[in-house]
Amino acid sequence: MARLVMKFGGTSVADIDRIRNVARHVKREVDAGWEVAVVVSAMSGKTNELVAWTRAAAPMHDAREYDAVVASGEQVTSGLLAICLQEIGVNARSWQGWQIPIKTDNAHGAARILDIDGSKLIERLGEGQVAVIAGFQGLGPDNRIATLGRGGSDTSAVAIAAAIGAARCDIYTDVDGVYTTDPRIVPKAKRLDRVSHEEMLEMASLGAKVLQVRSVELAMVHGVRTFVRSSFDDPADPRLGDVDNPPGTLICDEDEIVEKQVVTGIAYSKDEAQISLREVADKPGVAAAVFVPLAEANINVDMIVQNVSEDGTTTDMTFTLPVADFERAMSELEKAKDKIGYAKVQGSRDLVKVSVIGIGMRSHAGVAASAFQALAAKGINIRAITTSEIKISILIDSAYTELAVRTLHSLYGLDAA
Ligand code: ASP
Ligand code: MG
Repeated sequence: MARLVMKFGGTSVADIDRIRNVARHVKREVDAGWEVAVVVSAMSGKTNELVAWTRAAAPMHDAREYDAVVASGEQVTSGLLAICLQEIGVNARSWQGWQIPIKTDNAHGAARILDIDGSKLIERLGEGQVAVIAGFQGLGPDNRIATLGRGGSDTSAVAIAAAIGAARCDIYTDVDGVYTTDPRIVPKAKRLDRVSHEEMLEMASLGAKVLQVRSVELAMVHGVRTFVRSSFDDPADPRLGDVDNPPGTLICDEDEIVEKQVVTGIAYSKDEAQISLREVADKPGVAAAVFVPLAEANINVDMIVQNVSEDGTTTDMTFTLPVADFERAMSELEKAKDKIGYAKVQGSRDLVKVSVIGIGMRSHAGVAASAFQALAAKGINIRAITTSEIKISILIDSAYTELAVRTLHSLYGLDAA
């Protein structure tokens, strides 16, 4: 019999009523003949609360104990869902990461999955028992609980799907799929039927919060068919049981997308900051002198712009980073001032990066030019630009976020009729 993974996020398991509703979704698929493994998140808000408790206990704390605390949210929901399933006559049991086991590396708080032994799960599924698995957690090489980083239960689900050879991995959330952009900003945003792994990776990395980036990478590597769909639909609606194409967005291989749009979506990420070093010596080694100390301080730099100098002596160097790292970066640059050699440093906070994404861009000229034109027509000043084969990212003042996203959304014909 074919296997199905169903993953439910925090809002889908927010209280006992919602968990009962999830049990009905699971029962529908069990009744349809699937062998089902469920992966659950903590109840919404729970992980934040647990994280806050560890900080209140001690601002600097042992990451292994952080994991022991924050992994508990998922333990609770896995048990509660198993109880609700049993209550409606579905044979089910809960599994913690260590019981499977889901083996991770030693990076407590942001661990990566190394290996999952699916054999015990497969055996129980074959006996007709639903497995309710606590997402977000695994077992480190030190034999202690490790968590996968915020949003990590998406990654748990895709990894389990790969390990048990599931035909599909359904990610249930509070929206019914992936949209062309954030519907809160653009009410005319449309749900996408299909998105390629590559586009989804860009969207997730560039601010769309539907899926953890790592889960998309895993789905791409292992060829897991992943659907993003809503747990808020009525579990009894017969349309939800479609075996090949359930309602939602399929994240798939590019080959499965027949009609390739030039632009698929517009993403934005807030809380960006920019730092510019003025009159940096234009000679080999300066970029290293600027960015090595930042890397050593664990500061993740994003867009980097360096101009060719006119006179061959000095140039400007601009880069972006998360606003949370701004102060630290400024002090690192101050410390390295003599080594780098620059005239002055300027910074801006309150910026946003708006990105236009689409695999069709590879074969179309002028996509970037039309974006620049449209933004100029609205009086929006562009501070920095970066591009890849399938995306254009533009840094602007955050006050213009909504205007920019809306303008680009209609420019590329993404507005719903
Ligand atoms: N509960 C964890 C978090 O809030 C993992 C997840 O929900 O994916 O980050
Ligand atoms: Mg999530």
